[in-house]
Amino acid sequence: MEEMLVRSEKMSVAGQLAAGIAHEIRNPLTSIKGFLQILQAGVNRKEEYYKIMIEEIEKMEKITSELLFISKPLTDLKKRESIKEMIDDTVSLLHSQAKLKNIELIVKEPITESVYCDKSQIKQVLINLVKNAIEAMEQPGEITLGVLSDSNQIEIMVTDEGPGIPQEMIQKLGEPFFTTKKNGTGLGIMISKQILEEHHGELKITQNEYKGSTFKLVFPREGL
Ligand code: ADP
Ligand code: MG
Repeated sequence: MEEMLVRSEKMSVAGQLAAGIAHEIRNPLTSIKGFLQILQAGVNRKEEYYKIMIEEIEKMEKITSELLFISKPLTDLKKRESIKEMIDDTVSLLHSQAKLKNIELIVKEPITESVYCDKSQIKQVLINLVKNAIEAMEQPGEITLGVLSDSNQIEIMVTDEGPGIPQEMIQKLGEPFFTTKKNGTGLGIMISKQILEEHHGELKITQNEYKGSTFKLVFPREGL
């Protein structure tokens, strides 16, 4: 019974995702087809049409490559992993992208905890969140990564100084394809939430008192 419930829930998520994918791919396809028909009829302003078509194709490329990540077989590669190492890997991957916007990535030391996890998946979450933070910040400032733990759980935090997220938008985060960006896919948070759930944890989103948001990867202590 429980298994059936789980399965039907999964089906509906898959169905929701499939509808989203169909929609997200059909729109650029329709637009590309339209421009090709215009070009076929013979027109000026060809350069402009080619540019739009390439952008639409790039959008589909981005979506399909992010979806490939979800469809990877769920091999269980969980081990006890150092949080400091996963954070350092993320920072070294993204610090030059941050520097371009005069944003500093700060690691709040010391970090001594480890968690039982699939390292590449958790790094994927950290990369998604730090990228979002960089993209959200319009002014120079800091993104801070740190860890908070007690006897029940371990939290990895990513704090930014961006504009924050309006309350009514928070529920929408994690819906497939929800994005406010011109070139966004709206898949980052959905994938991140899913990865945390597979680790019996959760992704928490809170607003900072002063400015910006904090995303927390919450892991249960139990069984770590
Ligand atoms: P994408 O980055 O492709 O838009 P995501 O799922 O990563 O997709 O994020 C969805 C939306 O959530 C973003 O378009 C943005 O509006 C909002 N968002 C995510 N992270 C932040 C953040 N740190 N600050 C403000 N808004 C954010
Ligand atoms: Mg993103």
